[in-house]
Amino acid sequence: MARTRLVAGNWKMNKTAAEAKAFFEAFNAMPQTAGSEVVFCVPFTSLETSVAMTEGTKIGIGAQNIHFENSGAFTGEVSAEMLKATGAQWVVLGHSERREYFAETDDTVNKKIKKALEYGITPIVCCGESLYQRENGITFAWIASQLRLGYVGISAEDAKKTVIAYEPIWAIGTGKVATDDQAQEVCAFIRAELAAMYDEETAQSIRILYGGSVSPDSAAGLFSMPDIDGGLVGGASLVAEKFIKIVNA
Ligand code: PEP
Repeated sequence: MARTRLVAGNWKMNKTAAEAKAFFEAFNAMPQTAGSEVVFCVPFTSLETSVAMTEGTKIGIGAQNIHFENSGAFTGEVSAEMLKATGAQWVVLGHSERREYFAETDDTVNKKIKKALEYGITPIVCCGESLYQRENGITFAWIASQLRLGYVGISAEDAKKTVIAYEPIWAIGTGKVATDDQAQEVCAFIRAELAAMYDEETAQSIRILYGGSVSPDSAAGLFSMPDIDGGLVGGASLVAEKFIKIVNA
């Protein structure tokens, strides 16, 4: 089954709205040679500017979190409805930094996936093991648990509307990229797990991205692997010249 390749940038807590505007002025002028879908997940404060700057292009804009409730006494949070109202259509959920620093759990990720889908927002659902877990041989058990708990109560039809990002924590922001084979091995496992949770057709239609220190040098090898459908890119997505090279890989 042909899956459209996707390269998503995760800006994390970087760039003001003015900096986002300057970024897109440069990025929009750069020739995109590959037919990949391109998305930027930006800070909430840059959403409206980023949506405006990419209007009429094929670039998608998203956030890096939402709350799972519709509204109410949740100081500092942003709802799916609020995100949708900015014109954004994507959201990164369950990023390891949110799990580590903001008490995100598989249960809250599950609720957020459901809320995003309710509002027609595409979730990019992150999973991945720590170095300790990898070294102690529990990578697959850990990823299986994240997937199975994250997707509780989500139908095959809805699961197909999601994207999964495999991001080994030891490779995020460290410059230590997983080898092509290491990344492929886990992405193939994720697809097999999805087939067990749902069915083969569903597993084959869900896009699985690799994330973790992807660079212009490592992108082509990673993206050529059969179960890797693109990348979730942090640091390198902040520099237009670097990111376009990754997209074109
Ligand atoms: C990320 O933030 O999802 C990420 C993969 O970061 P980096 O590319 O900087 O490792």
